Amino acid sequence: MKTTRRGFLRTWMGASLAAAAAARPPAAEPPRPDSDSLERILAEPVFRRDLLKAPVRIEALELLRSGRQFLVRARSSDGAESVTVPNNSRLLDVYPLLIKRVAPFFIGKDARDLEQLLWEVYRHQSNYKFQGLAFWVCVATVEMALLDLLGQISGIALGDLLGGVRRRDIGVYQASGNRGNTPEEEVNFLRRIAAETGAKAVKFRLGGRMSRNADSLPGRTEALIPLVRQAFGDALTLYADSNSSYDAPNAIRIGRLLEEHHYAMFEEPCEFDDLWATKQVSDALSIPIGLGEQEFSMRRFQWVIENRAADIIQPDLHYFGGYIRCTRVARMAAAAGMPCTLHLSESGFAYLNVLHFASYIADPGPFQEFKGATRIPFTCDTSPLVCRNGSVRCPSGPGFGVRIDPDYARTFRPVKDV
Ligand SMILES: [Mg+2]
Repeated sequence: MKTTRRGFLRTWMGASLAAAAAARPPAAEPPRPDSDSLERILAEPVFRRDLLKAPVRIEALELLRSGRQFLVRARSSDGAESVTVPNNSRLLDVYPLLIKRVAPFFIGKDARDLEQLLWEVYRHQSNYKFQGLAFWVCVATVEMALLDLLGQISGIALGDLLGGVRRRDIGVYQASGNRGNTPEEEVNFLRRIAAETGAKAVKFRLGGRMSRNADSLPGRTEALIPLVRQAFGDALTLYADSNSSYDAPNAIRIGRLLEEHHYAMFEEPCEFDDLWATKQVSDALSIPIGLGEQEFSMRRFQWVIENRAADIIQPDLHYFGGYIRCTRVARMAAAAGMPCTLHLSESGFAYLNVLHFASYIADPGPFQEFKGATRIPFTCDTSPLVCRNGSVRCPSGPGFGVRIDPDYARTFRPVKDV
């Protein structure tokens, strides 16, 4: 059976704060919203349509390309324009869906109807048959372009268009993508990336990635878990991600080792679509379980939250179709007392996307993933967009609050053929 809320908080906050929490009276168990109340949350509007008085007719939505880099240009019929950065790595494979099935649907429509249009484009010409990352990453491309366009027209920051900015200084963590190196090499790597940004939390990889219990190097996981805690003491919050490595018994075994060393999250313990195994692990352990980066179904997120199959809900902003859909997930999670901490699928400008999401949702959790250092030239008047002492300031200008260098954008050409 799942641990008490008090135990949950103990692991979530990390070892250094556990003593302070233990001195307080026991907190209440987390709320357990039923399916009717989650349905009501899903029906509530996210986009603040009332903030835009006049129609915004969508005249053009162009995918622009230079070499292997994409940009998106959105233009309204009265000449407003925005240039945004999509999920480049996935679009290299799936952009024909964007060109043929998603972008054309929006032309001539009123961008203020964006929230309703997200449902209509799913139905349009049976697009739902393509659902999954390939479809939703294209929808996210359009959604983010239109949100920025609406921001440029209204002068309103993205977070205020989506419910209201609550915070601008966003705590971040640094993640390692390594597997197969020795535990000692990985500890040295983690020390370096934590020192670069002053991040107060780090995440590293366990197991072998979708490996049916095999490790990337024999014994690496069991050695690495205590070694990282020993290296950082209680100063850092530690997260571990197995990328779907284990069946339930092995995930529980590894999870107990993480608990012993006061880790604050065990991400994707079991194969990501095995919600039942993940729930078994979640029920057996007190460490918060993270899940959601591969998920594309709103209904399955609803099930995970209602049944408490995980504790930290992690949709990917691009893979799940953009801000509005992810905000609905975050609202359901908040009703169950769970943080919604986005998965970050690539570098480029994804870190900017994550900052905005964390700026307005109720509970993004204490740390967001930060990759930073985009190669795309831009200006931003309201934030240096660099990490200082473990925190990055979210821009407050219109839309995303950044301007892609026009000279750079001029080197791109519209993609016409598929
Ligand atoms: Mg992950």
